[in-house]
Amino acid sequence: MRYSGLQVLAQGLTGNRGWRPAWRDPAPKDEYDIVIIGGGGHGLSTAYYLARDHGLTNIAVLEKGYLGGGSVGRNTTIVRANYFLEGNSQFYSHSLKLWEALEADLNYNVMHSQRGLINLFHSDGQRDAFVRRGNMMINQGDDAILLDREGVRKLLPYLDFEQTRFPIYGGLYHPRGGTARHDAVAWGYARGADRRGVDLIQNCEVTGIDIAGGRVTGVQTTRGAIRAKKVGIVVAGRSSQVAAMAGMRLPIESHVLQAFVTEGLKPVIDHVISYGMGHFYISQSDKGGLVFGGDLDFYASYAARGNLPMVEHVAEAGMTLMPMIGKARTLRSWGGIMDMSPDGSPIIDRTHIEGLYLNCGWCYGGFKAVPGSGNCFAHLMATDRHHPAAERYRLDRFATGYGLMDEEGTGSQHNLH
Ligand SMILES: Cc1cc2nc3c(=O)[nH]c(=O)nc-3n(C[C@H](O)[C@H](O)[C@H](O)COP(=O)(O)OP(=O)(O)OC[C@H]3O[C@@H](n4cnc5c(N)ncnc54)[C@H](O)[C@@H]3O)c2cc1C
Repeated sequence: MRYSGLQVLAQGLTGNRGWRPAWRDPAPKDEYDIVIIGGGGHGLSTAYYLARDHGLTNIAVLEKGYLGGGSVGRNTTIVRANYFLEGNSQFYSHSLKLWEALEADLNYNVMHSQRGLINLFHSDGQRDAFVRRGNMMINQGDDAILLDREGVRKLLPYLDFEQTRFPIYGGLYHPRGGTARHDAVAWGYARGADRRGVDLIQNCEVTGIDIAGGRVTGVQTTRGAIRAKKVGIVVAGRSSQVAAMAGMRLPIESHVLQAFVTEGLKPVIDHVISYGMGHFYISQSDKGGLVFGGDLDFYASYAARGNLPMVEHVAEAGMTLMPMIGKARTLRSWGGIMDMSPDGSPIIDRTHIEGLYLNCGWCYGGFKAVPGSGNCFAHLMATDRHHPAAERYRLDRFATGYGLMDEEGTGSQHNLH
């Protein structure tokens, strides 16, 4: 069923009884050409691009819970292409271009809103770093505008410009940055993959990976064994656990990241704002809630919920930047599991096991990567060659030290990236 204005009108006039489920609910077959483990944003987009770009449709996505129940439906929805290092800047630029064509491509409203992202800086040193970043973004073909203090005041008059501890010196404005509705992205890709014949199998946990003679032959699941010629591990926060089923020890640590939303308010924040001193980021959802977050909880965990000290820390940072936020009532907070890599950059690669592929290490920036990651991972799984935009995301860089992409400059400490 194609969605259109005419369809909405026709359904509205006939009691909305003609809508069909957005995807089927098939039973798993005994065998597929490709099995994707994980029905998050990256798993679903991989399946979609395998079908769309490579004509491969004998594919199953196996999801242990429900589609979109992982971090793809838990993030603060920020989409941007403002990376500095070569390798990252190409990849996120590629991903942003896919975002810009996504709604027409999927025939699905993912509410992609390019409302502009502003990264604030609070010292001369930070300004220099942002000038370099902005130049890198422009060289990559993306957009960046350096704002001085008055330029920021014009766009964000409600910030506290008088605070003396972390005075606002200016900001790096990325007009094509913005937000998208996270669960709609999962649903749009799910529907697109299903329409092309991919089986999306929910409540199907992978419990083992079958390997014979150095080749992957299939997976064991809570719904029986499934044979497959190729298997992709795309399970984000659970990457280390699932890779361990194939005898692999990944350089990934899983950490909790929390987010918060307030009651719905009238429009007040038009942009996405990122606070350079307190690691606080905020935007306003289309429903009116202020959506915000901060740092990781700073300990490794598989619990998809966090603790109070970080709630206090995030609230403190928000109050320092925009005291008006103290008047809003927080409606909910939640957490998700982040697959933190030692250099803060992801992995899209083959493994030493023939036919077994790995996509992980997205840290807390993997939502904006969903289109690019699926597109590049599908290319790798279909052709056994790296997509040029994701060529640098090799697993062996953590063994050899060659090609590390430490975007934050914080060294090899997972929780600082
Ligand atoms: C609070 C928060 C804020 C964030 N903010 C942003 C942001 O603003 N911008 C941004 O770019 N990124 C953000 N992120 C990061 C981003 O959400 C993640 O990097 C990204 O969603 C991870 O990829 P995914 O969507 O595939 O993961 P998930 O949605 O977690 O998908 C993985 C799936 O694998 C399934 N799975 C696991 N084990 C198995 C198994 N054994 N068998 C079958 N299935 C299995 C899980 O159930 C899950 O559904 C944020 C994350 C959080 C938690």
